[in-house]
Amino acid sequence: MPSTAYLRPRSIAEVTQCLASFREAQLLAGGQSLLAAWRLGLCKPTHFVDLQDVPDLNDIRIEGDALWVGAMCTHAQIARSPMVLSQNPMLSELAQGIADAQIRNVGSIGGALANNDPAACWPAGVLAMNATIVTNQREIPADTFFQGLFSTALQHGEWILGVRFARVAWARYLKFEQAASRFALVGVAVARSMRGHVRVAITGLGQGITRWPEAENALTAQWRVNALTPLVFDARAAQTDLHASARYRAHLVSVLCRRAVAADTKESPAMPASAPMMLATPPSLPGRLQGSSLLPATPARVWEHLLNPAVLQRCIPGCTAMTLTQAEHYQAVVKVGLGPVSATFATEVALFTEPHHAPQQPMRCRLVLTGQAGALGEGKATVLVELHAVQDPHTQRINTRLDWHATPELTGKLAQLGNRLMDATAQSLSQQFFKRFSGVLSGETATPHKNESLYALARNVKQWLQRFFER
Ligand SMILES: Cc1cc2nc3c(=O)[nH]c(=O)nc-3n(C[C@H](O)[C@H](O)[C@H](O)COP(=O)(O)OP(=O)(O)OC[C@H]3O[C@@H](n4cnc5c(N)ncnc54)[C@H](O)[C@@H]3O)c2cc1C
Repeated sequence: MPSTAYLRPRSIAEVTQCLASFREAQLLAGGQSLLAAWRLGLCKPTHFVDLQDVPDLNDIRIEGDALWVGAMCTHAQIARSPMVLSQNPMLSELAQGIADAQIRNVGSIGGALANNDPAACWPAGVLAMNATIVTNQREIPADTFFQGLFSTALQHGEWILGVRFARVAWARYLKFEQAASRFALVGVAVARSMRGHVRVAITGLGQGITRWPEAENALTAQWRVNALTPLVFDARAAQTDLHASARYRAHLVSVLCRRAVAADTKESPAMPASAPMMLATPPSLPGRLQGSSLLPATPARVWEHLLNPAVLQRCIPGCTAMTLTQAEHYQAVVKVGLGPVSATFATEVALFTEPHHAPQQPMRCRLVLTGQAGALGEGKATVLVELHAVQDPHTQRINTRLDWHATPELTGKLAQLGNRLMDATAQSLSQQFFKRFSGVLSGETATPHKNESLYALARNVKQWLQRFFER
């Protein structure tokens, strides 16, 4: 068990001081996510800064026309508050549906928002309500607070004091539960402002909460279940995992959204037989995780960059070292910090290229990755990469569509974390990788690397590349 000091500040200023003094300190609210991750050795804060003695963080009060909920209010406290019930019953209902009574009695709204779990209920409720997250430094609108999987706009030293909910005309949150944890397989929050603007926020899709703009526009124009009938939620925005396919999740979004609106309009939520069918998801190569990126360069140039260790080091999130050990074999050190996970992997990557016979054929390679995270266990993955040449219809330039498909396997404590978290982590890191990679290809200035030996390695790779293309 890692040794972590325990601090118990008594004021907002003292908490801020603790965070400023100890860079690797972590706030402790109810400990429902943090302590589980810590016990598994997935994070190693130097200090826990317990918030329970800080006054005012448990307040629920009316501020003008808005409702203030302090960051340390537990789900149970929110669920039973008469003030919340009268001001916005949706918030009571949402809080009452979280996990079980034990977790509701200690888990807090502040902890849930800071954690931003992709299957949590509060982020969807707060986003649909267009609420404001108030920190020790500023006020952050929900639209900018949530920044994808387990990521928020909170900066180092910044922490949540509470949430301000403006009054709305009507709101509802419905979720289809994952039976074991009661986290949302899919959850949909719908809120209608006093001026009739509708916001729809969805949780459980796999990559963090998101809004559904087409449904929002349709419902703002016509507050009827039937306004949703022509709409199909795009399954490409959802993830497939052990519990549900992307198509099933997309279907649930429509069903729950219809039910939420019908609860107010008293219509039937049933989908009419004439409703459009769900779009087919594109055929895919085998592999549990997959993705596709359009890159602004020809396949040959993308290929060259993919084999350049200096470029890879710059683009892989958390990569602190990357060396070429022999032709087509790399060693890398990668620190993954996402939500409760904070682990350093010593990774080996072996690259197997397939012969490329004709220009119209995609270029293909297979990467076999083995990552050791010490006592946490081991991760292995086989990744199939395909580069397809695609012509831009406007500029006629040849770009590249890079498709990848991966099947990861985990052992040890990492496996205990479960596929939901690890798949979501892998998917999010790949998105970050391709965003940076796309930036490098479009000529963003690359920071010169301090490690000169990498340049020597890059030269080796280049020579090897030349040999490869001459074959
Ligand atoms: C089995 C299980 C089932 C669950 N089911 C659901 C569910 O159905 N729906 C749902 O929405 N949630 C669910 N949860 C999540 C749970 O309800 C908690 O809200 C969540 O785990 C956060 O817990 P916590 O408040 O104890 O925060 P902690 O675990 O103490 O902290 C979580 C993170 O937030 C940070 N943090 C805490 N407070 C603040 C703050 N004020 N400012 C900035 N950062 C802060 C911490 O440093 C840490 O990184 C479930 C959890 C478990 C374990």
